Amino acid sequence: MRDVIPQDRNPEQAGGGSDSPIELNLQPAAPARERGFDYLIVGAGFAGSVLAERLAAGLNKRVLVVDRRPHIGGNAYDHYDDAGVLIHRYGPHIFHTNSQRIVDYLSRFTEWRPYEHRVLAQVDGQQVPIPINRTTLNRLYGLNLTTDEEAADYLASRAEPVEDIRTSEDVVVNGIGRELYEKFFRGYTRKQWGLDPSQLDKSVTSRVPTRTNTDDRYFTDTFQQMPRHGYTRMFERMLSHPNIKVMLNTDYREVRNEVQYDHLIYCGPIDEYFGYCFGKLPYRSLRFEHKSLDQAQFQAVGTVNYPAEDVPYTRISEYKHLTGQEHPKTSVTYEYPSAEGDPYYPIPRPENAELYKRYQKLADETPGVTFVGRLGTYKYYNMDQVVGQALALYKRIEEAAQGVAVSEEAGLAAQS
Ligand code: FAD
Ligand code: UDP
Repeated sequence: MRDVIPQDRNPEQAGGGSDSPIELNLQPAAPARERGFDYLIVGAGFAGSVLAERLAAGLNKRVLVVDRRPHIGGNAYDHYDDAGVLIHRYGPHIFHTNSQRIVDYLSRFTEWRPYEHRVLAQVDGQQVPIPINRTTLNRLYGLNLTTDEEAADYLASRAEPVEDIRTSEDVVVNGIGRELYEKFFRGYTRKQWGLDPSQLDKSVTSRVPTRTNTDDRYFTDTFQQMPRHGYTRMFERMLSHPNIKVMLNTDYREVRNEVQYDHLIYCGPIDEYFGYCFGKLPYRSLRFEHKSLDQAQFQAVGTVNYPAEDVPYTRISEYKHLTGQEHPKTSVTYEYPSAEGDPYYPIPRPENAELYKRYQKLADETPGVTFVGRLGTYKYYNMDQVVGQALALYKRIEEAAQGVAVSEEAGLAAQS
């Protein structure tokens, strides 16, 4: 069966040119048992879609992709809401990377719109740049720091050196001192993770640097850009290959005994795959509150962070900044952290890494299945890192396939 998805595209966008609808092979709910696939891929997010595309287009493999959600794209899925504004169902996704190779690969499926993300933090009654920079310090403390050196000296005077930097508290207090840590990091982190920063690996708050200049961009990567027609359209193009079938609203467990395949690529939670045999790996979830507003603009930048602990959400994002869409209305998303719900964030702390290692060992000992992606490898990865991980896995598969081909040829040559 061939079908066209998704249904909820903006009808205005469904014209010709590079943005014309893409056809996917959507399978009926119950696949024929006799139909065999080379690969069954669980998860139609970045990890699963990149691998499906590569295996189909690069190695001519027959691939079935299943996802239990009603759409492709995983957490990067975007769609037009009722007002016609392009929103991200699972919170704001901003593409940034230093890898030319990853940009080149994704550029086969999308054009880009340059976009540099800016974030303000609501602190002490005003909105100031985060990452903390010279402007932040000047505004917050009524200072007039004019050079990098002055700002560096100021931060050094506030920093409280920590000998052994292990936690997300250590790394910030060591860099900028306790007061700024409490204003910008402690409350936000406690809300976001349900843990104190002292209980989290330093890698978490290290994602947000401190600057002595006035650069107010959230990221400094070489490439900062958004798929021009959205993420979902990019995924449609990746998956639109005659060798790829996609089944949505389908859990792996529903099809594992129904479909014949040689190899499984699993992009869901690794602990779930193994029936939580060593216990549950902790994940943090979010509840997204999407609002459509009858005004053209809501806030000055793409995201405003709310680190205060008495505000229940962590941040509000307004998509039109990200997408550049012009529209008389605007749409925003509030993020409320939650212990319950879809697993969005692996939680980086030593005991969780230990538990993951036990699952990883079991995975290594389980033939025929490979785990990949943010949930499959329990890594707090950005989109580009997941693409990089999937491309690296593909390369290993390709090399192994070439090795087999070479040895088969050698075998034939020896026989003749
Ligand atoms: P996912 O996108 O999670 O895809 C996994 C898929 O597997 C899901 O669709 C799920 O339904 C499916 N699945 C799981 N189990 C099963 C099963 N048993 N059967 C069938 N299907 C199953 N990254 C950035 O680079 N920039 C950002 O700005 C950014 N912002 C983010 C904001 C939020 C709120 C979140 C949560 C993440 C953000 N990320 C961002 C990270 C980004 O979402 C991930 O790096 C990326 O989406 C991971 O891709 P993936 O394929 O590994 O996993
Ligand atoms: N963080 C914070 N205050 C902020 C922004 C970030 O304390 O204003 C901390 C918080 O622990 C957060 C982490 O830094 O989870 C990483 O922030 P990032 O914006 O990278 O989070 P993501 O976009 O992945 O949710």
